[in-house]
Amino acid sequence: MARIVMKFGGTSMAGTERIRRVAGIVKRQQEAGHEVAVVVSAMAGETDRLVNFCREANALYDPAEYDVVVASGEQVTSGLLALTLQAMGCKARSWLGWQLPVKTDDAHAKARIEDIDSDGLLASMGAGEIAVIPGFQGLSPHGRVTTLGRGGSDTSAVAVAAAVKADRCDIYTDVDGVYTTDPRIVAKARKLPLVTYEEMLELASVGSKVLQTRSVSLAMKEGVRVQVLSSFIDESAPPADDLPGTMIVSDEELEGSDMERQLITGIAADKNEAKVTLTRVPDRPGAVASIFAPLAEANINVDMIIQNVAKDKGETDVTFTVPQADLARALAMLEERKEAIGFFRLISDDHVTKISVVGVGMRSHAGVASTMFKTLADRGINIQAISTSEIKVSVLINADETELAVRVLHTAYGLDAAA
Ligand code: ASP
Ligand code: MG
Repeated sequence: MARIVMKFGGTSMAGTERIRRVAGIVKRQQEAGHEVAVVVSAMAGETDRLVNFCREANALYDPAEYDVVVASGEQVTSGLLALTLQAMGCKARSWLGWQLPVKTDDAHAKARIEDIDSDGLLASMGAGEIAVIPGFQGLSPHGRVTTLGRGGSDTSAVAVAAAVKADRCDIYTDVDGVYTTDPRIVAKARKLPLVTYEEMLELASVGSKVLQTRSVSLAMKEGVRVQVLSSFIDESAPPADDLPGTMIVSDEELEGSDMERQLITGIAADKNEAKVTLTRVPDRPGAVASIFAPLAEANINVDMIIQNVAKDKGETDVTFTVPQADLARALAMLEERKEAIGFFRLISDDHVTKISVVGVGMRSHAGVASTMFKTLADRGINIQAISTSEIKVSVLINADETELAVRVLHTAYGLDAAA
C-alpha cells in the first residue's frame, strides 16, 4: 500500500463529464489499495474569468480581496469532485485551504506555504476517506484567504505530498509528460521519460507551463517524487505506476539510468515578460540600486538585466525584464522616482518573448550559447537581451518570432524526433 497525492489541472476539471472521469481515475487508485488525497484546480478558464472581474471592479485591486475572489474557483471543483466520488460509492470529503489549514505568509496573490497541518488529513485518509483539497488556496497569519500565484495548485499538491509523506505525487495534466518543447509549436517534439529537478526548474521558470516553478523547487527541497501524467487516459489503462509519463528525478537518479541524452534537454518560450528601459541613468554608485530596490520591495521579480557601458557623459541605459502582470506597477513606481533615480526616458515593450535552452549537459560542454546565437542570426532574429545560468541560456526576442525561433533551435540542437 502506498500513500499517493494526485493532482488534476483545470482542463481535467472543466465540467461534469470530465470531473466524472477524474473521479474514476481516483477511485481506481484507491481500489488498488492506496491512501489517496486529491488536489484540484479550478475549471479551465475560470481563474482568468475571476481575475477579469477583479480588474473591472478596481484596476488597482487590493490583493487580499483579489484572493477572496480567485480562490473560489477551486472551492467549486473540490466540492464537485467530492460529490462525484460520493455518487460512485466512495467516502470523500473536501478540505478547504483555511480548514486544513494551509498556512502561508501574507504575500497575497503570490503567497508562500509555510506549513500544512496534516493531522486531520492523515486520520481521514487512514480511515479510507478520499481527501479532496482545492489547490491554490492558503490562509495568512492574519486569518485571511491567500492564493499561491497562477498555476499554484501544483505547489499545493507537492506541499500536501510533503506534509503527508506521500510515496508519490502524480500530476495529471492535459499533456502526457514533459516534452523537449511545446508540441503545439514543434510537431517533432519528443516526450522526456526523465528530467532532473534542476532542469524542470529552469523549464518551468521559463514558461514551459507544465508545472509551476515553485512546485518544482519545493519537490526538490522536500525530495518529493513527482510524476507528470495525462488525465486523458482511457478507462482500461494500467495504474499510474506503469504509465509512461515523465518522472522528475535527482541528478544521481538520472546518472544511474542508462538513458541516451542530448546535450540540450528542452527549449522553452515565455511570453509573460515585458522589457523596461531607462535611458540616461547617471553612471555612479547607487544608481542601479535606486532602480531595483523599490521593485524588490514591491515584490516585483526582475529577470534579465543589461546595463550599457557609459560613453562620454557619465550616463548609461539600463534595460531589464519584469513579469507582464507587474509592468504597470513597475512603470508607475519608476515614474514616481524619476527625480531620485535621475533617468531621462522610461520605455517599455511587452511584445517580447524569452526563449531558453536548458540542459544539465551544458555544465560540461562549451558552445551551447554560440550555437543559439548563430542559429537565430541565420534566420535574421534579433537578440534584445541575454542571460545565462549553469544549465540555461536565455535570449529576449520580438514576440512575432517566437515560433520560428523555437523550431529552428529544436532542430539545431538535434532534438527533433525521427520522422
Ligand atoms: N486556478 C489557478 C490558476 O489558474 C491555480 C491552478 O490552476 O494551478 O492559476
Ligand atoms: Mg497548471
